[in-house]
Amino acid sequence: MLARLLKKPFVRAYATNNQLFLSKDVSKDIPTHELFQKLGFTKQPSSGLVHWLPLGLRILRNVENIIHTEMRRVDAEEVALSSLSAAALWKTTGRWDNRELFKLQDAKGADYCLAPTCEEEITDIVKAHVGSYKDLPLIMYQVARKYRDEKRPRAGLLRGREFLMKDAYSFDVSETHALVTYDKVYGAYKAIFRTLKIPFAIAEADTGDIGGSLSHEWHYVHHSGEDSLFTCSSCGSTSNIEKTLALPEVDSVPVDTAEVRYFLNESKDTLVALYYPVGRTLVPLFLKEEIPDLNTKSTLTDEETLAKFMEGEEIIGKSIIRVMDARLHDRTILPDFPVPFQRGSFTTLTGLPLVEAREGEVCYKCEEGRLERQKAIEVGHTFFLGTRYSAPLNATFTNEFGKPELMSMGCYGIGVSRIIAAIAEVTRDMEGFVWPATIAPFQVTIIEGPGKNYQQTVAMMDGVAQSLKEGGITVNRDFRPLERFGLGKKIRDSNLIGVPLVVIAGKALPRLEIEVRGKRWEQKETYLWQELRARKQEAWQWEVSEVKGREKHIVHVDGFVEVVQALLKDM
Ligand SMILES: [Zn+2]
Repeated sequence: MLARLLKKPFVRAYATNNQLFLSKDVSKDIPTHELFQKLGFTKQPSSGLVHWLPLGLRILRNVENIIHTEMRRVDAEEVALSSLSAAALWKTTGRWDNRELFKLQDAKGADYCLAPTCEEEITDIVKAHVGSYKDLPLIMYQVARKYRDEKRPRAGLLRGREFLMKDAYSFDVSETHALVTYDKVYGAYKAIFRTLKIPFAIAEADTGDIGGSLSHEWHYVHHSGEDSLFTCSSCGSTSNIEKTLALPEVDSVPVDTAEVRYFLNESKDTLVALYYPVGRTLVPLFLKEEIPDLNTKSTLTDEETLAKFMEGEEIIGKSIIRVMDARLHDRTILPDFPVPFQRGSFTTLTGLPLVEAREGEVCYKCEEGRLERQKAIEVGHTFFLGTRYSAPLNATFTNEFGKPELMSMGCYGIGVSRIIAAIAEVTRDMEGFVWPATIAPFQVTIIEGPGKNYQQTVAMMDGVAQSLKEGGITVNRDFRPLERFGLGKKIRDSNLIGVPLVVIAGKALPRLEIEVRGKRWEQKETYLWQELRARKQEAWQWEVSEVKGREKHIVHVDGFVEVVQALLKDM
């Protein structure tokens, strides 16, 4: 018996955490990352680092398996790259100076980083192996530990210095083909997120540091999230705050006073003055479509920008563009224009969105809907990269005419440890974790309750547990002595670690009781178990009731495995 007990990570975790179980609703006040540690899912040896313990690792492996299944379905090849990456490649792509890169030197003074992503390394590998257009398309992926020299590591798994990530990279002969591949991986992501059951949001996103021109973020909407998403009430488009273009609220009072910021185009012969409402956050990037060569990354002050523009004797050949935010009107007071100019020597653009959107403003895309703002936790990101990496690394293939051409790329990440933290955050309640059945550390807890013959019950449940396992269901047996750990406490403990179903064998034998802890995230007319019950209610003496807000099934052992399978399918 003792050996059996020790084999159970579940029971061991409890043995060291008894103080947690004094009160039924103790978990409600504990931050999620602490709950992970208190329940023995993880241990954090220091800020930003995480050890995965048996209970947590079960969830991690389940998430990984879902990812592997869907990535294989789109013919992605798995690789495992070294965590150490030499500086040279990073310098070639201009990413070595990133302050969050975890850098280190070997004894000879050579520079390395602990890889946060692998665009450089994978492109270098593919470049060496791909010769002809016939070798493409190619998707490569891995699930691996990644690193980031996070200056302010956040609670637990959400923002660590070491984290687990699925990163995938695609290589194609052209942009058109690369976008087809992008859609394919996008589809795989949808399948992954659907298997995880929790409602998710896909947001159009800015391409940021990784570069490229098409990108989506994958989010769980939750008030604790650090990201903001805007969704249009009319066209339904969702985008993150860096990408949301908005027009002023209907009937809003036009703004009377404006601020201005000055920018130059790349060739420094056009001065762009951006006028926007006082106190709002300017996003010059929004002008990328109107003025494609606008240098939005400039760190110059306005004085420096103006001085640069005025360099040289002649202002002839230079132009000025004034851009008015849509929230201004023709009587808005503008700051004085500090550069001498001839009337007619400048262009004015009006009615454009220049500042960060606010809740209630009008969607720029359809010009009809109202924008709603929600907080969200980002857990995945997909990028179309084009030649952002293949160009500097000269990753070419030979096209059908024998000429070299740059490969067109995409990259696709899912934060594996982060998604677990996010799901925990979104789903936990007063009683603890509530894992989706597809990733729960166990899907069913079996408890032998008080009954006529305990030994007989255990023997019978050995058989039941075996059938469950054969049916692909993970089972946790709670063998702690009933005299010390009462039935109620055992049920609470199972609920606390988030096992979707608790089975109690005892008084009702040969019928078994099933208490439902898991949630049904999708609203359906009829759930699978209801369809099954319509056919089998009598044969399996199947009763359903609700006790203190909790769904309870009593079913004959003959139909038990099928009932459990049906219940889990919708959780
Ligand atoms: Zn819209």
